[in-house]
Amino acid sequence: MIYKPRMESIELLILKALDSRICLSSKVKQLYFNLKKGYEGEILFDSLTEQLQCECLILNDLLLKQNNTLFQIDSLIIMSDTIYLFEVKNYEGNYYYESDKLYKIPKSEINNPLIQLIRSESLLRQFLHSLGITIPIHSSIVYINPEFTLYQTPLDKPFILPTQVNSFLKKLNKSSTKLNEKHNRMADKLILHHIQDPPFNQLPSYKYEEMHKGITCVNCTSITVSNMGKICICHKCGFEEAVEAAVMRSVEEYKLLFPEKKVTTNIIHEWCKVVKSKKRIRRILSENFKIMGVRQWTYYE
Ligand SMILES: [Zn+2]
Repeated sequence: MIYKPRMESIELLILKALDSRICLSSKVKQLYFNLKKGYEGEILFDSLTEQLQCECLILNDLLLKQNNTLFQIDSLIIMSDTIYLFEVKNYEGNYYYESDKLYKIPKSEINNPLIQLIRSESLLRQFLHSLGITIPIHSSIVYINPEFTLYQTPLDKPFILPTQVNSFLKKLNKSSTKLNEKHNRMADKLILHHIQDPPFNQLPSYKYEEMHKGITCVNCTSITVSNMGKICICHKCGFEEAVEAAVMRSVEEYKLLFPEKKVTTNIIHEWCKVVKSKKRIRRILSENFKIMGVRQWTYYE
């Protein structure tokens, strides 16, 4: 049972919006690509764990603090006598393992996720201990991408390779685990301590004036969306969306990028650009938000 669902991080959402509307430097583009790829891998793993029929509590994406040190957990499955901790990696291509180091072929060393896993497990154990909880932790790195190959994989490392994910989960599913109130309390405590707004990596600075105005496509994120009657159509992928939904999405995007600015009819009319009728924008805003202020000072919350 999914006890805590995964959401796209604010950082990823901001980068997605920026990527459609400004020209990102290659460094920021790489950051966006890595975050997006990681998130896709986690979602793929979630789609498998959510099929578990055994009694368990699944907590996806936890950010906790122990001894003033932040640590992030991709996936945690609480079963009766063990907590399973998963670090999910969406690496693609050919890699090899040598002297406790991980290399992408031909020869570029990348961070060994095992170090991160050992650190997370240790911090989680201390964290649980501080709450008076003692339970064995079983940690693994899940390589989720079907196009990932790891040569020279040592047998004694806690790696779950793409061809092993299903059998690992099948085995979990077969265990006769019974949960009680104690497990729910443990899950609640973890969620209570989850840090909602983590510090961001380096986001670029941006200004409203330099952004492409228009509506981004919900399917392919391109900004080549036009409005015809009650429908918005993407010229890149052909995706169609009701104009109200598209405008509301754009408002959320605007609020995400400019949380300090007020939402007004004029600004959203300019922001969405392709919806020519200001009256329509005003109607959508007034139907979906609380109207604050009067006349030319009206804004929406
Ligand atoms: Zn599209």
